[in-house]
Amino acid sequence: MMNNVMIISGAGLSAESGIRTFRDSDGLWEDYDVMEVCSTQGWNNDREKVTRFYNARRKDLHDKVPNKAHCTLAALEQQFPGRIMHLTQNVDNLLERAGCREVIHLHGTLTDLRCEECGHVWDIGYEAQHEYDACPRCESSAVRHNVVMFGESAPEYRHIYDAIASCELFVAIGTSGQVIDIVTIAQEFEHSLLINPKREEYVTAFGSFEKNIDDFFEHFIQKKASQAADEMAAFITQFLQR
Ligand SMILES: [Zn+2]
Repeated sequence: MMNNVMIISGAGLSAESGIRTFRDSDGLWEDYDVMEVCSTQGWNNDREKVTRFYNARRKDLHDKVPNKAHCTLAALEQQFPGRIMHLTQNVDNLLERAGCREVIHLHGTLTDLRCEECGHVWDIGYEAQHEYDACPRCESSAVRHNVVMFGESAPEYRHIYDAIASCELFVAIGTSGQVIDIVTIAQEFEHSLLINPKREEYVTAFGSFEKNIDDFFEHFIQKKASQAADEMAAFITQFLQR
């Protein structure tokens, strides 16, 4: 029996908890240039500035709380152990704080640091990274944030292919498909569900297809993640119990 569920969640899941992103209305772009603080080029130009940026994001995360959608996803994971592969684009820890144990962070984690020398990753919670920080394993001072930047590879993406191969339902939550092409993934599945508050145009490197992303999904709930949480839970539960 292979009726497992693949979930990809994005910024829309955490936006309702007040996590700011570079998307339209929530304002991070007013304070920062995305390429200066989220790209390898920016990192090489000014490591201090990038470190300050992630220190601020980490501090900002401290008083944020999971919303109903995070909690619903945690309850589903507990109800159906081993049946749900949850991959998130989010670098916050709100899913874990809601009770999730098995989330794969495709773009890294805000509450960890990483050693560029030996690859060791360690938890620093909501603390700032300081200049004098050293790797607890190899003592190297080549320490960085643990978030995937534009211009570097995302090793966790390998799990996307595993999930496609082992799941029969694809659920995309709060992602516009601009970074991960959820349309191409959806086309690999007979059953798919999209949850987004807006209909988004499907645009690729080759231009616009004059279609919306939801046109490629079997089901579409046009709501914010928390408002769609009950419907989503009923849908996934029904699928896993059929
Ligand atoms: Zn190290």
